[in-house]
Amino acid sequence: MLKMELVEGRYAPVVICDWCGRLIDHADRGNYEYEVAEDGRPIGDRLFFTHTECCQAFEEARGGPGHWRMDDLRCLPLQLGVVLGIDWDEAAAQCGLGPYTPAPAARTRQRGEENEPAPELGEID
Ligand SMILES: [Zn+2]
Repeated sequence: MLKMELVEGRYAPVVICDWCGRLIDHADRGNYEYEVAEDGRPIGDRLFFTHTECCQAFEEARGGPGHWRMDDLRCLPLQLGVVLGIDWDEAAAQCGLGPYTPAPAARTRQRGEENEPAPELGEID
């Protein structure tokens, strides 16, 4: 489930595992899941969240893995961003987080040269 909690002095949405009830504290340790019909169509009206280690037990207790589809939790914000038409720079500014700036490693990967340091502003052509 998603819920609001006080995090570092501000209320923020957090993700709670629907199997064990503990906080999913990093996106790479979680999934989001939804129930599907035999033909693969989504059924039901909600998303569920699980730790990667809780996923199998969650699904087995609810009809088995054939009734569920899951995806990496890291994908959810990006998929929602596409569906909602989010401009990440505007959204970051709106939330008081400043303009969006990719992490140096991400900028390096975008250039396709894994060990090259990220360029300084103004060096990008
Ligand atoms: Zn869990």
